[in-house]
Amino acid sequence: MSAHILTVPADGNPAGFVVACAELTDDCEGWVECISDCDADALDAADEDGDDSPTLHGEIHKRMDGGWCTRTGQCWIAGHPDTCDAARDLGLPPGEHPVRAAYGDHLDWGMLELVAIAPAVKA
Ligand SMILES: [Zn+2]
Ligand SMILES: [Zn+2]
Repeated sequence: MSAHILTVPADGNPAGFVVACAELTDDCEGWVECISDCDADALDAADEDGDDSPTLHGEIHKRMDGGWCTRTGQCWIAGHPDTCDAARDLGLPPGEHPVRAAYGDHLDWGMLELVAIAPAVKA
């Protein structure tokens, strides 16, 4: 059920490091701070009432990194600006590799660290 495929270019060109998202899921859908005409007080009130993902102006909101965010509808792993660095940290050979994003306290919000799902197969 690998939804993310990392392509490592043979020539090492940074622009060639690409993660493709086969299927957008809750785990990889990006969130961005809601900057539409949003009533943060109403969201805070809902949160205090125990609803940590209140719906306002038709969208679900979650509190992240101190702000209220809504879904972007796009994968945050694919197209992440740190893809090249994160991929190089894995030291994978050129080719396509199933990966997932790492999560942990050592990572700041929005930082990308990739984990290889299957051991690399040597060509
Ligand atoms: Zn909003
Ligand atoms: Zn994805």
